[in-house]
Amino acid sequence: MISYEYLLSDINNIKGIGIKTSKLFRKKNINTIFDLLWSLPRDTVDRTNIVKINELQIGKIQTIIINVRKYNFPRIRNLPNRVLCDDETGKLECIFFNSYEGYIKKILPLGKKVTISGKVGYYKKKYQITNPTHISTDVNSVKKIFTTYSLTEGLTEKKYNNIINEVLKNIPDLSEWLSDEILEKFNYISWKQAILELHESKNIKKKGNFLNRLIFDEILATLLINSKIRKSIKKIKKNKKKFDNKEFNKIKDKINFDLTNDQLSTIKEINDDLKSNQKMFRLLQGDVGSGKTIVAFVASMNVITSGYQVCLMAPTEILAKQHFNQAKKLFDNNINISLLTSKTELKERKLILNDLSNNHINIIIGTHSLFQEKIEYNNLGLIIIDEQHKFGVKQRKKLSDKGGKNCDVLVMSATPIPRTLVMTAFGDMDTSIIKYKPLNRKQIKTYSKPDNKINEIIKFVKKQIILKNQVFWVCPLIEESKKIDHQSSVKRYEDLKKIFKDKVGLLHGSLDKEEKNNILIKFLNKKIDILVSTTVIEVGIDFPNANTIIIENANKFGLSQLHQLRGRVGRGDKESYCILMFKSNLSENAKKRINILKKNNDGFKISEEDMKLRGYGDLLGFKQSGLQSFRLADPIINEDLFFLAEKEVKKIELENKSLHKYITLLKLHDRADILNDLV
Ligand code: ADP
Ligand code: MG
Repeated sequence: MISYEYLLSDINNIKGIGIKTSKLFRKKNINTIFDLLWSLPRDTVDRTNIVKINELQIGKIQTIIINVRKYNFPRIRNLPNRVLCDDETGKLECIFFNSYEGYIKKILPLGKKVTISGKVGYYKKKYQITNPTHISTDVNSVKKIFTTYSLTEGLTEKKYNNIINEVLKNIPDLSEWLSDEILEKFNYISWKQAILELHESKNIKKKGNFLNRLIFDEILATLLINSKIRKSIKKIKKNKKKFDNKEFNKIKDKINFDLTNDQLSTIKEINDDLKSNQKMFRLLQGDVGSGKTIVAFVASMNVITSGYQVCLMAPTEILAKQHFNQAKKLFDNNINISLLTSKTELKERKLILNDLSNNHINIIIGTHSLFQEKIEYNNLGLIIIDEQHKFGVKQRKKLSDKGGKNCDVLVMSATPIPRTLVMTAFGDMDTSIIKYKPLNRKQIKTYSKPDNKINEIIKFVKKQIILKNQVFWVCPLIEESKKIDHQSSVKRYEDLKKIFKDKVGLLHGSLDKEEKNNILIKFLNKKIDILVSTTVIEVGIDFPNANTIIIENANKFGLSQLHQLRGRVGRGDKESYCILMFKSNLSENAKKRINILKKNNDGFKISEEDMKLRGYGDLLGFKQSGLQSFRLADPIINEDLFFLAEKEVKKIELENKSLHKYITLLKLHDRADILNDLV
């Protein structure tokens, strides 16, 4: 066995682990020895202080030396076995559920002095210890400080400690992968020393550099792989796209606003990529409403001008349709634009596929069905993915491969994530950021109201409608059930209809394409004033005349999600409002979160605060992002280590070192398999 393989071997190989115990570990997601070692202890139990029976404190874990006096093994099933013990100051009973007599006689031999430790109870004027876990005739084996781990039922602290100690004895020496410069920052602690020390009870409260060293390893593994992917994509030489500013100027003439400086600079970054002979693999980040779409269309136009096809993928049908309509307005008639979603009729679909392979379509806009089927492009030059934060590193890599060597890739995301997470989740890409929104945007006024104040809300809505504004009314997914979700929106729709008559529309997940489109068009054409919906309006859709959004049960949403929803309004230049409804008696945490939203309009700030409260795992969609989760590292708490690792990776890149030295690290952290697919 190569030495590191021991660490990756199955826990079944550990001496003392049977099928039953290994099942308990697997329940806790511990499958390999590495998993076991990297699950660090949580706390300690001090069993060093030995007391007399008359000094025992009820409810505490205590250690005592006792004489075993008498067995009491009842013949009736389900009654516990008891052993009467004493010392010179009093009596104590040991109680055993589910233990055989033979076993009890062995661990508590009659007449012997035994050290036992356990939680002390008191019943019918007698001290007792039920199912004591630490019993020995050898005082020193009990009189210790034990580390405690997060246990599942059936896995005792003693058993866990025995297993860990067995493993700690056997861990191999591996050659160091960190550079001297980095090691110096962690006091030259090796990974092995770090692991050994972290499982020591004395270090539980002061983990310091032992822990930092391991966290750094974990971050480095992730960033190294990202860098490797980025480099391997850059290595692909493509044909340069050739275009001038003519089409861009035409587009500028067609829009009724000036592009912001950030939009202009991102367009330039993208153009430079398109014109170079390196494949573009770029993330365009910008808060909701920052104006990413127009940037995407300018890029599309340039790619089309240089003789290539473009494919734009949106997360929902509605958004695809809206992009499609906007493209039609923006592009000249000689540009062929098509829409393809899972709902496109078979006959039409065939025509589209045919046209794509014949180069009769210049830009195809659609949903993820664009990538699921076998579509043959004639000459694909750019893939744009809008709002697809659920795409993981591996999926994006596949996508880039699928597009072929001449195909550039642009991913757009409104999920405002802090830089440490960008490094992690999008570290395989270059990034452009639209930091500032167009200046005409006003702050969206955000209020919260308990459900029972609904009459005030209705009054407010009436006023907005008189002012010729439109209103979104969002009913969230309750209990993750489509059916209930549906019912809640239907009920609200019907209630509102009683007041606003036929000026209310309902949009929910079970409507078919036609029905959805009809309602959206009605809303866009101001035939209806209020659109009741489930969260289907969440991403990207643009309704400039809507200035108010009401969100029911707001505490069911994550902050970033609420911010995204709120971003559906305030896109024009009028005063806009977001009203968060909630059931009364919100928890303190929920109140804090709603306040963050009220006070901030900057998606980055909001997501950072949200992560502080809920951890990064809950951040919009990141659970499903294929982002490999960290065991130890936390992008908020360990920000400095992320930046340190980023610097180190840049150095490794510059020196053009092979990753050979890091293979073990990558394997241990399960980051290595993607290496096989890379050039
Ligand atoms: P997102 O970044 O969320 O995708 P959009 O691209 O949908 O944002 O843009 C939101 C709205 O802002 C659209 O109505 C768009 O026409 C408008 N918009 C985009 N850029 C500007 C700008 N520079 N000035 C004013 N309005 C703009
Ligand atoms: Mg958008």
